[in-house]
Amino acid sequence: MISSGSVERTLVLVKPDGVRRRLVSEILGRFERKGLGIDAMVLRRMDDRLADQHYTEHLAEPFYPGLRAFMTSGPLIALVLSGDGVVRMVREMVGATDGRRAAPGTIRGDFATSGRENLVHASDSAENARREIAIWFPDLD
Ligand code: ADP
Ligand code: MG
Repeated sequence: MISSGSVERTLVLVKPDGVRRRLVSEILGRFERKGLGIDAMVLRRMDDRLADQHYTEHLAEPFYPGLRAFMTSGPLIALVLSGDGVVRMVREMVGATDGRRAAPGTIRGDFATSGRENLVHASDSAENARREIAIWFPDLD
């Protein structure tokens, strides 16, 4: 039997702008149609403490106060996606950080025009995926 631990996982957030703009099904639909598995999902609001944990590598960045205010401004969707090579695949589907520079065909390229309000977070490495999944879904096997 293949244990679930052998399939790669990544942590995705549909950020508060995605929920406000009614883009949740559009964004999740892309991942579903790609054929990725959804291992966990929740609608939740980030507080300052969770934001500081999640974005620990950005705490000293000049953009961090604005990022934290945005990320705590309303409910978001947190989910765990699984599949072979999913970390890199989802980063490519999400596109470059700044929506103004993200390529058409990517989520940010198609729907975002901001460097901050860019609709989606996706883990950038397998190691960060494990760290972020443990923050959002501590009980996930
Ligand atoms: P990514 O989400 O593509 O991995 P980063 O990890 O570099 O990007 O940054 C985390 C988040 O912080 C970005 O998704 C974006 O919301 C915000 N951000 C990054 N850089 C800037 C910036 N220069 N100005 C405003 N917000 C930014
Ligand atoms: Mg990042």
